[in-house]
Amino acid sequence: MSGRPLISLSGVDSCLTSLKTCKTYINTGMDVTTNVALDLVEYHNDLEEINTVEEVMLEYAVMNRELSHYMKAVEDTVKQIKQDKPEIVPDLKHLVMERFRNLESKNCNADLQRNEKVVLFKEQIKRMKAQFGIQSDTEEGPVLEQVDDDIAVTQSQRKFICPITQEEMKKPVRNKICGHTYEEEAILEHIRRRQQQKKKVKCPQVGCNNKEVRKGDLVLDEVLKRMIDVWNKQSQ
Ligand SMILES: [Zn+2]
Repeated sequence: MSGRPLISLSGVDSCLTSLKTCKTYINTGMDVTTNVALDLVEYHNDLEEINTVEEVMLEYAVMNRELSHYMKAVEDTVKQIKQDKPEIVPDLKHLVMERFRNLESKNCNADLQRNEKVVLFKEQIKRMKAQFGIQSDTEEGPVLEQVDDDIAVTQSQRKFICPITQEEMKKPVRNKICGHTYEEEAILEHIRRRQQQKKKVKCPQVGCNNKEVRKGDLVLDEVLKRMIDVWNKQSQ
C-alpha cells in the first residue's frame, strides 16, 4: 500500500459549503432585523419593542457563533486527518463534536457583543434615536435635526453630498475606518479604477488621511439614507 490517504473528504467539503450558505442566511436575517428596529425608532419609538428586537439580534449572534465553531471544528478535523493520513477511517462525527464542544465551552457574552452586526445594530439605533427618536410625540412625525435657519440647512445637506459625485447620495455607504460616506456605486468604481492603475486607493474626502479604502470596510449607512429620504419628503 502506498502512503496516499484512502479517505475521501469531498463529502465534508460540500457540507462546509452549505454551512457557509447558512451563514449568509444568518447575516441576511440580521440585516432585516436591524431594519425592523430602525423602522421602530423612526415610526413608533417604542423602547420595549426595540429591546425585543435587540434580543433577536443576540439570538442570531448565538447561531452565528455556533455555526462558526462547528465549521472550525470540521476544518480542523479535516486538516488533522490530511496530516495524519490514517489507514482506518476515523469516527469523524466524534472528532468534530469533541472539537466543537471544546470551542463552545469558552463561550461568553462578550463574544456576542463583539459580533460585527450587533455592534453595527447598536450604533445605528443610537444614531437613529438621536436623529428621529426625540421627536416621536409631535404631530408631524420625525423632523430632521433643528433645521430652522440657513446654516443648519446647509450643514445637514452637506452630509448628504457624496465627495465623489458631488451629488446627493441615494445609497450612502460609510467607511468603517475613517467614517466618511460616499455613494456606493461611485466609491466602488473609484476603488476599481485605482486598483486597475495599480495605485493606492485614497479616501476621496478632502483632508482625509485614510490611504487604503477597501470594499470590506464599507457598510450601508441606513440611518443617513433615512435622513436623506425624510429630508426630501419634507422639502417637497
Ligand atoms: Zn475618509
